[in-house]
Parts: sequence; structure tokens; C-alpha cells
Amino acid sequence: MNILVTGGAGYIGSITCVRLIEAGFTPIIFDNFCNSKRTVIDRIERITGKRPLLIEGDIRDRTLLDQTLAQHKIDAVIHFAGLKAVGESVAKPLAYYENNVGGTFTLLQALEAAGVRTLIFSSSATVYGDPASVPILEDFPTGATNPYGRTKLMTEEVLSDIVHANPAWSVTLLRYFNPVGAHPSGLMGEDPQGIPNNLMPLIAQVAVGRREKLTVFGNDYPTPDGTGMRDYIHVMDLADGHIAALRHAIGKPGTHIFNLGTGRGQSVLGMLTAFERACGRPLAHTIAARRPGDVAACWADTAKAERELGWTAKLSLEDMCADTWRWQSSNPNGYAD
Ligand code: NAD
Ligand code: UDP
Repeated sequence: MNILVTGGAGYIGSITCVRLIEAGFTPIIFDNFCNSKRTVIDRIERITGKRPLLIEGDIRDRTLLDQTLAQHKIDAVIHFAGLKAVGESVAKPLAYYENNVGGTFTLLQALEAAGVRTLIFSSSATVYGDPASVPILEDFPTGATNPYGRTKLMTEEVLSDIVHANPAWSVTLLRYFNPVGAHPSGLMGEDPQGIPNNLMPLIAQVAVGRREKLTVFGNDYPTPDGTGMRDYIHVMDLADGHIAALRHAIGKPGTHIFNLGTGRGQSVLGMLTAFERACGRPLAHTIAARRPGDVAACWADTAKAERELGWTAKLSLEDMCADTWRWQSSNPNGYAD
């Protein structure tokens, strides 16, 4: 089966392409490289022995999408392409709405015209806003707290409307919790451009000496050690969640919503300690005020994914840290250009 993978050169998309190839699917990567490097394609080939087809382009380019869909018989789409920095989305909301929501409109119009109606969408736990309780179930109320989150929520709503209007569509909304880790080979991992926004790449950069210390945002949350808790999930498990979702979606019209997490929360200090064990040395940190907009605790109820997809996260916190460390220490500056 040919799977069009928008954003397939990015962190999660590229590792999902590895798993797709290993599972016997044929990914076709569609990416404009606005937040990724071309070297990633070589790495996919090195790991799998197969070079995925690459179409360099923008999901807002309808002509290129039409050409792509005419040239290749696409069975399903995994739609990763999007901008993902929360802070940047507050500063540049239009760019986020245009790329994430507008880009998805163009993609959907092209898919509808070509009769491709199976799509898996990269959503986020951010759509739950500040949850009233944890663990979070898929039917909890949604609400975004920043423009990035609103692009995810709007896209989810648009996709649900499309299914409602045309029941031939199969749409799967995968709400990722906190993806971390790298391919266990150390050849592929997260390569944030500029200053990272997320905890794990920041810890990894402290470990490798690219930054002096970690700033812990708040130690006065109502959590056991006072620091914020999240559901960190290994990117390999997340990639496998896509394969499970794909198998589930084929021939199953409707809107399907799944949390992809481990079902366990880990604190900021817990992550730091686990990473210290992986890299074998203490890592400097300082405590600062809470980061505006942060929630105290967020982790998934994963029972629905287990029940309906037959999928659960298998890798441990130790795996997440060891694999991140292997990637970061062997590629201290990320992918080459
Ligand atoms: P990433 O930035 O590494 O990958 C996104 C890819 O999409 C990049 O390769 C980028 O070049 C490409 N892209 C962006 N806009 C494009 C466009 N208009 N046309 C073509 N390509 C475009 O991000 P990621 O961490 O791999 O995330 C993938 C998806 O998962 C995103 O939609 C993100 O919002 C979502 N998500 C990520 C996280 C996370 O913490 N990483 C959490 C929840 C959801
Ligand atoms: N965090 C932190 N210092 C940092 C970055 C993040 O203490 O430099 C904390 C943050 O407050 C949150 C957790 O780490 O409790 C995860 O943050 P991240 O931005 O990675 O994910 P999100 O908050 O979007 O779930």
C-alpha cells in the first residue's frame, strides 16, 4: 500500500516512515523541509535499505498535490505536516492558521478530488486544554489555550465535518502526548532548529554541553515533587501507533479518536534524573517561575487505543533517555544540512 506522508521528513514522520517500510508499506514523503533536513532521507535508507520516494513541496500547493495524487495510487494519508512551536504560534498566529489549517484545507480538497479518503491526522493532547482530572479520556471536553492548539482543534473539527458530510471518509485523530526519544540506532532523532521548546531536547543539549543548564519552570505545582507532570512517549512506540491506526482505518469509515501515550505521568525532575542516569553525569538545573499557560499534570488514559487498535506503548523511560542520549551524543548538532 502507498501511504502519502505529509511532513514525513520531520521528527515523528521520518521515524514513522522507517516503521512503515519495515511493516511492508510504501511511504511517499511530501515535505517542504521548513523544519527538517534532507539528510533524513539518507538515514531512512540506511536503516531500512529502501529509499523512500520524496516529493519536495508544500501542502498549500494544490497543483503539486494534484500531480502527486495523479502520478501515484495513494491508499491512505498520514498528515504530519505542520508548524508546532507554541510560543511562535502566539507571536505569529496567521502563519500558524495559514500553514496548519489552510494547508490542511488544500490537502483535503486535493484528496477529495482524487477520491483518497483515508487520513490519519497528527493531533495533540493540547486539545484537552487544562484537563479537570487525569488520566485524560478521549471524550473529555476540548479547548485550546494558544493558537497552535486552536489549529489542532479547528482541524479536528473540520475533519469531523467532512466525515459527517461524506461517510466514505475514514479519519483518525491521533492525540499525541509528549513524544521523546530517538531511533535506537542513534541515526535518527529530534533536531530542533534554534532554541528547543520542549523539555527533552533541552535536557539533551545540556547533557551534550550545548547549553549550560536546564531551567525548571515551577516547583510549586500540586504534584509529588512540585514540578509539572507529562506523559512522555517513546517516538518508536508512537510510530507503531500510526501503523496500528492505519491497519484499523483501512475500510473502516468514520471518525476515530485515540490518545497515544503511556498512561503514566513523569515529573520534570524525574526526567532530569532519568537522563542523568543515561548519560552518566549530573546535569545542572535551576528553578524558575511557572511557564505561563502550563498545566500541572497531563497524562493519557490509553485503554481505548489498547482495546480498539491493539496497541500499547512498550518502551520505558530508560529507553527514552538512552536512545535520546545515543542520538544526541553521536549527532551533537543534529542532522547535517
Ligand atoms: P517536525 O517539525 O519535526 O515535522 C513536521 C514536518 O512538516 C517538517 O519536516 C516540516 O518541514 C514539514 N512541514 C511543515 N509545514 C509544511 C508544509 N506547509 N508543507 C509541507 N511540509 C511541511 O514536527 P514533529 O514533531 O515531527 O510533529 C509532527 C506533527 O505532530 C505536527 O503536526 C505536530 O504538530 C504534531 N505533534 C507533535 C508533537 C511533538 O511534541 N513533537 C506533539 C503533538 C503533536
Ligand atoms: N519544562 C521545564 N523547562 C523547560 C521546558 C519545559 O521545566 O525548559 C517543563 C514544562 O513546564 C512542562 C514539561 O517540562 O512541565 C514539559 O514541557 P514541554 O514544553 O516539553 O511539553 P508541554 O508542556 O507542551 O506538554
